[in-house]
Amino acid sequence: MSEPVAPADDKLKETIEDKLYLVKYKPDKQSHIEVIQEVFKADKLKVVLYICPAKVYTLNEETGECLVNHENCLECGTCAIAAPEYVKWRYPRGGFGVQYKLG
Ligand code: SF4
Repeated sequence: MSEPVAPADDKLKETIEDKLYLVKYKPDKQSHIEVIQEVFKADKLKVVLYICPAKVYTLNEETGECLVNHENCLECGTCAIAAPEYVKWRYPRGGFGVQYKLG
């Protein structure tokens, strides 16, 4: 019987930025993500700031609004499930968005 194989050390040291570098995008000027700011501001948990693997959502500390960097979206759909009351997410228009994922 063979021994279980542990992941290589350098694989464990990869940051999210390292992994995002392996994704090829064709960005669309038109965002496929809309945040209803009033509902976001009223939400105490603001889960989208923590659950997005691509860090698409950030908080504007001055206004309290949610900033959306839609060009980095990995199209995983997590935000649409976690915060449907204020995130209106759909796939990017045809031909845009994630083109290729390596790894
Ligand atoms: S679909 Fe996934 S990657 Fe895209 S914004 Fe939502 S959580 Fe982030």
